[in-house]
Amino acid sequence: MPLSDRRLLAAPDAQDAPDAAGEPDAPVQKRKRSRSGGAKTLANLEIAADKVQPLKPAAVPPKPVDKLAKLGLKSDIDLLLHLPMRYEDETSITPIGHLIPGDNTQTEGVVFDNEIAYRPRRQLLVKIHDDVGDELTLRFLNFYGSQVKQMAIGVRLRVRGDVRGGFFGMEMVHPAAVRPVDEDMPLPQALTPVYSSTAGVSQAYLRKAIDNALSRVHLPELLPEKIARAHLQPLHVPALLDAVKTLHHPHADSDENALIDGTHPAWTRIKFEELLAQQLSLKRAHEERRTRAAPVMPRLQNVPESLVARFLNTLPFKLTGAQERVCAEISGELMLPHPMQRLLQGDVGSGKTIMAALAAAQAIDAGYQAALMAPTEILAEQHARKLCAWLEPLGVTVAWLAGSLKAKEKRAVLEAAASGAAQLVIGTHAIIQDAVEFSRLGFVIVDEQHRFGVAQRLALRAKAHNAADGVNNFQPHQLMMSATPIPRTLAMTYYADLDVSTIDELPPGRTPILTKLVADNRREEVIARVREAALTGRQVYWVCPLIEESETLQLQTAVETYETLVAALPELRIGLVHGRLPPAEKAAVMDAFTRAEVQLLVATTVIEVGVDVPNASLMVIEHAERFGLAQLHQLRGRVGRGSAASVCVLMYAGPLSQMARARLQTMRETTDGFEIARRDLQIRGPGEFLGARQSGAAMLRFASLENDGWLIEPARTAADEMLAQFPEAVTNHLARWLGAREQYLKA
Ligand code: ADP
Ligand code: MG
Repeated sequence: MPLSDRRLLAAPDAQDAPDAAGEPDAPVQKRKRSRSGGAKTLANLEIAADKVQPLKPAAVPPKPVDKLAKLGLKSDIDLLLHLPMRYEDETSITPIGHLIPGDNTQTEGVVFDNEIAYRPRRQLLVKIHDDVGDELTLRFLNFYGSQVKQMAIGVRLRVRGDVRGGFFGMEMVHPAAVRPVDEDMPLPQALTPVYSSTAGVSQAYLRKAIDNALSRVHLPELLPEKIARAHLQPLHVPALLDAVKTLHHPHADSDENALIDGTHPAWTRIKFEELLAQQLSLKRAHEERRTRAAPVMPRLQNVPESLVARFLNTLPFKLTGAQERVCAEISGELMLPHPMQRLLQGDVGSGKTIMAALAAAQAIDAGYQAALMAPTEILAEQHARKLCAWLEPLGVTVAWLAGSLKAKEKRAVLEAAASGAAQLVIGTHAIIQDAVEFSRLGFVIVDEQHRFGVAQRLALRAKAHNAADGVNNFQPHQLMMSATPIPRTLAMTYYADLDVSTIDELPPGRTPILTKLVADNRREEVIARVREAALTGRQVYWVCPLIEESETLQLQTAVETYETLVAALPELRIGLVHGRLPPAEKAAVMDAFTRAEVQLLVATTVIEVGVDVPNASLMVIEHAERFGLAQLHQLRGRVGRGSAASVCVLMYAGPLSQMARARLQTMRETTDGFEIARRDLQIRGPGEFLGARQSGAAMLRFASLENDGWLIEPARTAADEMLAQFPEAVTNHLARWLGAREQYLKA
C-alpha cells in the first residue's frame, strides 16, 4: 500500500456509541435505531478518530488558532505546558496468541475474512490472523462503507483496544485504533500522549501543535544558577526542557506508573517550578502592598481622652496574653503608611471581636471610618449589637446596613456613610454594593472571610480601592477574621500574601465542654436532659438536622422538630429560629433568648457563627453525622462561653460511614480548633478542606497539596532568595508560569 494511502481508520469505540452494547439479542427497536442512525455513526467516527494517531500523521489541515485558544493555549509555552493526562502504549505488538482478556493491547494481523452480519444485529465482523495462525475478531456495531473496503481481505492491520474472550474466541469490540500497515512499518519509540481536550480539537491536531511548539521552542532555564544549585540539585530532577519532552513523549521503558501518578522526576521538576511561581506571586503581591499608601493611624492608648484609651478603660475584662500580642501586631501595622492585609485566626470564642473593635477605635481616633462585614445577617447583627454596646456610650456613631432594611432607613445609612457621619458601618455584603460610598474609609474588617466567595472579596477590595482618598490616594487597611484555623502548610501555600495573627488562648473562666455521642434511639433521655437543664436555669440550643439537598425540607424539619419539642416540653418557653424567618422576627427570637426569656432555642445552622449567649450551656445537635467538622466545631462553640459546665450532645443515626465516624470521634476527643482543622484536613484532603474558591488554589494546575506538600518548603525558600537577589528572574518566571492566571490572586 502506498504511503499516501495510509489513511487513518477508526471505529467509534463502545463509549461513544450508545448502540454498541452488543447484547446478542438486542430488541428489534434498538436494531432499527442503529440502522437509521447514519449521521450519528459518522459523528461518532469523527470523535473516535480523535483518539488515534497515525504513525505518519497526514499534514494537519490549517485550522484557526482560536481552536487552541478554546483550551487556553495561546502561546508556545502554553502548548508545552499542556501536559498529557495519560499515555497509550503503541510501542510494541503483542502476538494474537498472547492476548489477555481485559487488557488494552496492540496487536497486528492480516485480514482473512470481512463480512456484514445481520444477526443478532447489523455488524461488521473483520477477522485477522498472524503468521502462526492465531485469530482475532474485530467487531464493529457502527461503521460505514469505506471502512469495510479499507479492511479488505489481505490488508495487514495494526489494532489497539480492549481484548475480550468472545463466544467464538478472542475479539475486540470497537478497537480504539485500527490502521493498515506495511510489514516493515516502525513502531513508535515513545508512549503516545493523550491530552485533555475539548469538542472540535482532535488529539491528532493537539499532538501536532504541541510537537511543533516543542521543535520551535528551546525553553531556556530561567532559574539563576545559584538558585538551581541550592534548590533543584537536591531534588535530582532533569533540566526543564528535558522534563517537558519526557512528559510529552516518555520513552517506551519509562516508569509509566510514576508518570501517571505524578511522582516521576520530570513531574517533580514541573511541580517545583509551579509552586515556585505561586510563592513568588503571593510574596510579590505582599511586597507590592508596601508601595501603596494607606492612612497612618497612631495608637493613642496613652492619651486619656482618645477613644482607644476610654474603650480599654470601660472593658469589663482583661485582655488575654494572646489578645494583647495580637492587638500590638494589628495596631503596629495600622501605624504604617501601607495597607495592612492581615488574617486574624483564633478559635471559636477566643475573642476576635474585641480585637476588631479596638482596631476600629484606632481608625476612628485617626479620623477615619471603619466598616465591618459579616457573611450572614444574624452574625452581622450580633456584631452590631456588641459593638454598639461598647462604642456608642463613648460617643461613636455606628450604622447598621443590611439587605432587609426599609428603603428609607437604608437611605439614611447611605447618607451617613457618604457624609462621614457614620464612623463605623456594620453589615452583610450589602456593604459592598455599588450604592454604598464612604467619605473616609480607612479600615475594613471581614469576619469569617472564608465564607465569602472570591467575587465578593474582589468587590470589597475594589470598594476599598475606590474609597481611596482622592488627595493622598490612600487605600484602607484590611483585617480578615477566621475561626477556621488553617494548618501551616496550607497557610504557607494559600495565604503567603497575607500577614497572619493568631489568638491561641481562650479567655479565662471557660469550662471545658463535654461532648457526648448518643444514638438517636435514645431521644427520650436527651429530651429529659434538656428539661432538667432548663429547669435549673440553664439555656439550651437544639440544632436541627442539616438537609443539604433541600432548603424547603430542612425548614420543614425545623418546624416539625420545634412542634415535637413544644409538645414534649410544655413547661418550657421554646423559640424557633431559621434562615427564612423575616429579619425582625429572627431578631425578636434571638433577643428573647439573649434575655433568657426563651429557655430552649430550636435552630437551624443559622446559629452556627457568632451567636453569643454565655448562659447557654447545653447543645443538642441532631443527625450530627451529616455535618462537617468545621461546622460542628462552630456550632459547639456556642456553648461553653460562661462559667457553667457545658455539654454538647451529638445525636446520630447509624450506620455511620467511616468518615462520619472519624468526624464524630474527633469531636468527642478534642475541642481544640487547630487540632480539629488538622484532622479535618487529614480526613478530607486539602482540596475539599479549602474549597476550590480559595485564592491561590486556582493557580495550581500540576502540584497538589495532598501529594506534593513536601515541595512547598523548598519552593518557598527559593522564592525568598529569588525575590531578594534576582528580581528579573522573578518577573520572567512569573510570566512563563502564570501569565494571565495571576489575576486570581487578587481575590
Ligand atoms: P470569637 O473569636 O468566636 O469571635 P468573641 O469575640 O465572640 O469570640 O468572644 C467570645 C466571648 O468572649 C464574648 O462574650 C467576649 O465578650 C468574651 N471575651 C473576649 N475576650 C475576653 C477576655 N479577655 N476575657 C473574658 N471574656 C472575653
Ligand atoms: Mg466571632
